[in-house]
Amino acid sequence: MSKKIAILGSTGSIGLSTLKVVQKLKPAFQVTGLTAYRNAKELARQVRLFRPKVAAILDWKFFPDLKALTKGTPTQILAGEEGLVAVAAESGADLVLSAIVGAAGLKPTLAAIQKGKDIALANKETMVMAGEVVTRAARKSGSKILPVDSEHCAVFQCLAGSSSPKEIHKIILTASGGPFRNLDKKHFPKITRKDALNHPTWRMGPKITIDSATLMNKGLEVIEAHFLFNTPFEKIDIVIHPESIIHSMVEYIDGSVLAQLGTTDMQIPIQYAMTYPARGNSPVERLDLAQVGRLQFEKPDRKKFPCVDLAYEAGKKGGTYPAVLNAANEVAVGRFLNDEIPFTRIPTIISNTLRKYRPLTNGTLDGILRADHWARQEASKIS
Ligand code: NAD
Ligand code: MG
Repeated sequence: MSKKIAILGSTGSIGLSTLKVVQKLKPAFQVTGLTAYRNAKELARQVRLFRPKVAAILDWKFFPDLKALTKGTPTQILAGEEGLVAVAAESGADLVLSAIVGAAGLKPTLAAIQKGKDIALANKETMVMAGEVVTRAARKSGSKILPVDSEHCAVFQCLAGSSSPKEIHKIILTASGGPFRNLDKKHFPKITRKDALNHPTWRMGPKITIDSATLMNKGLEVIEAHFLFNTPFEKIDIVIHPESIIHSMVEYIDGSVLAQLGTTDMQIPIQYAMTYPARGNSPVERLDLAQVGRLQFEKPDRKKFPCVDLAYEAGKKGGTYPAVLNAANEVAVGRFLNDEIPFTRIPTIISNTLRKYRPLTNGTLDGILRADHWARQEASKIS
């Protein structure tokens, strides 16, 4: 019998890679739900090809287009946030692949968790904002959260066979270092949108590509790892590894270090989350270490990339601080992508927003959403 999968954010980079994996694993998977933000044309193409039970577009403006383009298919077409939540929770999926970018992924992902669906999690912002709420809900409903983020998928695999969290000495997340690893800080004010969108090893959506250039992506991943693996921040380290061959490591208390390696293709972690605990054949490019030749490692430059410390700081403070960090980052990245602010303002805006924050709200879902809202307004105002 085939496994039923719903894909939230199916028109994005991860969404498209997931659909490729689905096609390769046919007939083991059946798509029951798909969602997109505004790209009705691509979503309609997917609906015609995969014939899910339901598909939803966030922006109501594109609902008539999507309806028209999917005429004659058996798929029920929905829109708005309720539509996305319905795809996540009501499409009859066994597994929900969460690949919306940003805080917009939280509500649908949480709805799927509350329904006891297993989650293949790419949308790290959900875990950063609401790690406690999400992990608590998963424990209650019995939903498994399987990491898709390549580093966390690596850690997840390196942890297999470990009998107790006490055996972990350290989680070591690798980072490519982004396009500005070797650029002198004095040139940072001149960085353009195009420079920042040019990632050396991965092809991804624009938001995460900018996060990789500021190293905030690694900061968010530290918080993601903290919640996913229930590990204190003191035991999560970052090492720069420009080849992106080792996807992350776990160091055990006896001095053994386990690493997971592979080519830079997100289809590998996506497929593992889909087939877990089994492994399926995949025609991805094979790793040829002799051809790679050398693997390099260095410490991250925390002065050049202040986002790393901002993330550790917010993570350690806990409560609603990570939600504020995430929201301020989303706004700052959006403003940089709109050519409103220079690259160097991104960490300053996040830092100023965090400094101004007085946590009046607690870590409930409502409190998190209010903190997110406050941080967005604040980060939009800072010039
Ligand atoms: P993307 O921009 O390519 O795609 C985002 C998807 O979300 C699209 O389908 C879009 O329609 C949808 N979307 C965007 N805004 C939305 C909104 N407000 N409401 C509802 N839907 C919305 O992004 P991506 O690179 O595929 O990344 C998706 C998530 O996966 C991010 O959280 C990212 O950090 C994470 N991730 C991506 C990669 C990668 O290789 N691309 C790797 C690891 C983790
Ligand atoms: Mg990653």
